Amino acid sequence: MTDREPIQSVDIVIDEELPEVGDSKKKAGGFDLEINSGYDMLFYPGTEISWSLEATRIFGGIEVEGFIRGGLSLECYRCLESYRFQVDGHIREHVICLDSHEDKEREADRGEYHIEGGVFDLLQVIRDAVGLSLPIKRLCTLDCRGLCGVCGRNLNTGSCECLTVEVDARLKPLEALREKLENAKLEDER
Ligand SMILES: [Zn+2]
Ligand SMILES: [Zn+2]
Repeated sequence: MTDREPIQSVDIVIDEELPEVGDSKKKAGGFDLEINSGYDMLFYPGTEISWSLEATRIFGGIEVEGFIRGGLSLECYRCLESYRFQVDGHIREHVICLDSHEDKEREADRGEYHIEGGVFDLLQVIRDAVGLSLPIKRLCTLDCRGLCGVCGRNLNTGSCECLTVEVDARLKPLEALREKLENAKLEDER
C-alpha cells in the first residue's frame, strides 16, 4: 500500500518533559491508518486522523486526556468495498509509574497502562481509542446487499442472473412465518 515507515511509538519522557507533579505537556499529531485484519493496525505519518493529548504528571504516574478525530477507510464485511468511517473519540486514561519488577508483573496482568523505564508510549492509548471507535459490524450501509453467493457480483451495483434463486432461498423462512401468522390470525377470528 505504501513505502512509508509506520510510526512505532509516540514517546513521552516523564522526567524530562514532566519533571514535577502538576506539570502538563500537550502533544498532537496525525496519521493515516492501515487496518490489516480485525484490529491489527498500522499507523503511518499522515492527516486522515488527528490526535491531541495532554499529559499531566500526578503522584505515581500521569494522566492523559485528549481526543482522536478524523475519517478512515474500512472494508465492508458484506460487499468488500471500502467505505469512509468517521472517528471521534475522547481519551482519558490513567497511567501508573511502576518501580519494581513485582509491580510491573502485577499491573501488566490487570492490563493497565504503565510507564516503563521512565517513558510512556502515547501510541498505546491512541491505538486503543481507535480500536474502541471501530464499529463491530463493518457495513458500508445498513442495508448493504453484499455479493451474490453464486457469481460474486456486488448486488449494490445491480442484479445478476442468479439473483432470483438467491432471494427466493433467503425469503423462504419469511414466507413460512407469514403463513403461520396468517393462520394464527384466522384461528383468532374464528
Ligand atoms: Zn457493503
Ligand atoms: Zn449472481
